[in-house]
Amino acid sequence: MKKRTCPNCNDPLKGRPDKKYCSPECRAADHYEKRKQNEKLFFQVDAKLKTNRRVLKKYNTNGKTILRREVLHKEGFDPNYFTHFRKIVTGDVYFYCYDFGFLKMKETTPTEMKQKYLIINWNGK
Ligand SMILES: [Zn+2]
Repeated sequence: MKKRTCPNCNDPLKGRPDKKYCSPECRAADHYEKRKQNEKLFFQVDAKLKTNRRVLKKYNTNGKTILRREVLHKEGFDPNYFTHFRKIVTGDVYFYCYDFGFLKMKETTPTEMKQKYLIINWNGK
């Protein structure tokens, strides 16, 4: 049988088999730690989204802009983070970071294949 220990202080647990912490203090400390971890994730995602929006806004100079992927990625843009998406009639999917969106475009030329993004604002302008 695996020895049960307190997840906060690693002391062996005594008493009821459903007991998870050695003391109320350890329970509180562990819950606090988990909340902090969740908050850290929230701030990380929040920062990613804000960076994405800032980059999209910066390059969205005339409504619709087509850019090479490297240009955005160099600025810290991460396409895995977006707030919502919208499928348009062509079947393409616009991903949004708040009010600015992007569409992944694949352009194939005989010599190279470059990934590009089309940047739009919320109204699709
Ligand atoms: Zn403990």
